[in-house]
Amino acid sequence: MALLERSIGVEDLVLLEPLAQESMLKNLQLRYEKKEIYTYIGNVLISVNPYQQLPIYGPDFIAKYRDCTFYEEKPHIYALANMAYQSLRDQNRDQCILITGESGAGKTEASKLVMSFVAAVCEKGEQVNSVKEQLLQSNPVLEAFGNAKTIRNNNSSRFVSEHLLEKSRVVKQLEGERNFHIFYQLLAGADAQLLKALKLDRDPCGYTYLNREVSRVNGMDDESNFKAVQNAMAVIGFSEAEIRQVLEVTALVLKLGNVELMDEFQANGLSASGIRDGKGIQEIGELVGLNSQELERALCSKTVKTGKENVVTQLTITQVGTGEKKKVMGVLDIYGFEILEDNSFEQFVINYCNEKLQQVFIEMTLKEEQEEYKKEGIQWTKVDFSDNNIICNLIEHNQKGILAMLDEECLRPGQVSDTTFLAKLNHLFSKHSHYESKVTLNAQRQSDHTMSFNCFRICHYAGKVTYNVTSFIDKNNDLLFRDLSQAMWKARHPLLRSMFPEGDPKNASLKRPPTAGTQLKSSVAILMKNLYSKNPNYIRCIKPNEHQQCGQFSSELVATQTRYLGLLENVRVRRAGYAYRQGYKPFLERYRLLNRSTWPRWNGGDREGVEKLLGELSISSEELAFGKTKIFIKSPKTLFYLEEQRRLRL
Ligand code: ADP
Ligand code: MG
Repeated sequence: MALLERSIGVEDLVLLEPLAQESMLKNLQLRYEKKEIYTYIGNVLISVNPYQQLPIYGPDFIAKYRDCTFYEEKPHIYALANMAYQSLRDQNRDQCILITGESGAGKTEASKLVMSFVAAVCEKGEQVNSVKEQLLQSNPVLEAFGNAKTIRNNNSSRFVSEHLLEKSRVVKQLEGERNFHIFYQLLAGADAQLLKALKLDRDPCGYTYLNREVSRVNGMDDESNFKAVQNAMAVIGFSEAEIRQVLEVTALVLKLGNVELMDEFQANGLSASGIRDGKGIQEIGELVGLNSQELERALCSKTVKTGKENVVTQLTITQVGTGEKKKVMGVLDIYGFEILEDNSFEQFVINYCNEKLQQVFIEMTLKEEQEEYKKEGIQWTKVDFSDNNIICNLIEHNQKGILAMLDEECLRPGQVSDTTFLAKLNHLFSKHSHYESKVTLNAQRQSDHTMSFNCFRICHYAGKVTYNVTSFIDKNNDLLFRDLSQAMWKARHPLLRSMFPEGDPKNASLKRPPTAGTQLKSSVAILMKNLYSKNPNYIRCIKPNEHQQCGQFSSELVATQTRYLGLLENVRVRRAGYAYRQGYKPFLERYRLLNRSTWPRWNGGDREGVEKLLGELSISSEELAFGKTKIFIKSPKTLFYLEEQRRLRL
């Protein structure tokens, strides 16, 4: 491979000299301009979104990468997928492929490329083929229910594991954004008969939950995607009846959005609500087998403050896989750090997830380095590396974290509000190095005019983010009133019932359901445990410009993302010990022409050959370590020297 080809920059940032933010950006830009969108940091893959179809995928490329060792060919996502697959197959280690980056950076495309590579190379066989098919088909289903058009990306994923991180999108979208794809797909793609059965009208403009200005997305065919989703669900293993039920619930959500509640003030000062138009309710009742009066009662009682809060479905897609699974390869595609003008609970949650992923990354990379040195029998003193535990703790600490404070406020009787919550944080974290607010800044006599009184700020590893506390309490409460669950549980509709187990009178004595924050924290914890048990492979995606344009590289934008992704730290961790390592055999093959005793023919062992070769080149012994199977080289300069010498001789 052209490790150090000057015109296209270095293929591995570990070899960057000098190492700095600027040189890293230059290198990425140089490569991007030459359509080299992939670059390594050791075994981490950086991918810069090309926003155009490059002729580097498909069967020929899969064939080229399927049996190569990692550094043999140019950096490529197939090389990473292959490495993970080989480790799964040959060492029987479960794999996890972590794909991070901000919205529009190319995560979902990357996960599709990984899946199609694995599907192409795994052994043939009836069962394998059906798993392959299921694997590939799970994607359209996940995208239909979990993705939406946002300002930044026409196909942005808004979920992680089974968690829809963005329930609020169902009821409200920002200007220029869409609701989850499935709603538009259903309206555009269902035939007249199905629409009638679901009691829907074709025109999306008739639905309150669907933003009027953007019902279509350029280049996205909702109609044919609907067919693809239906087909994919069948392949994954949904029965016809189950598919129908999923669509009925989807229709139910749309129709619920159109139910208008009226608040009426009563003489006693309490307000009560009624329903403006009975027809909608009637139809919903028929759709899911519910008594409409009962439904109305459930919707209207206790709706004093939650008039516009509606049932939001969280779809749990049947586990993909074959019953008896032995080895696992998980692909995690999660949207990265999100910093908007106005950041709310959703951003807080997303950024917390990312903070945790960074924590896993640092721990596992360092651990992996240490394990490799140990395995190779090389002495190495542990490098200290600043981690982000303090920030994770600030958010998740069981008694004193921000999420715990939020829960405490939500459960406390009396006058609670977003303001009392913020006051509590300000009091508790007044001296915390990663927490700021107007109050704490004032107390320290630092003013910040951009910060308003209803905000707090967290210094994340990726930078500072200011969160507005408005509606934190409501969003965390995520209240679904008991009478509503009970009504839903009475529906003659198996899927709907299964979504409201707490409506079962047998469970009536149960405590209130956990808050959104608590649910999230525990699902993040499960995710982390899952990651720690697997061999991690990292893909870091970068968005080169804000306009979804090919060929444009905005250094400023990329700089921010490399910071969010912690790339420079990544290179530093990698270089902390030995920057470069290679198996004796490939190393010897590459450099044997550099000296007489190994070229043209060497009959001894690979390791002895490498020793002889480097010995005669009089490279300082401090620069080198001879492991059991690999040669380790400390500084990139030594490698540059070897490469230079090699070039002179070719
Ligand atoms: P993310 O999941 O990170 O939000 P996506 O994977 O949906 O981003 O990518 C956004 C868009 O960028 C895609 O719809 C596609 O047009 C383009 N894109 C991403 N990766 C590639 C790639 N490797 N080749 C060509 N186009 C890509
Ligand atoms: Mg995505």
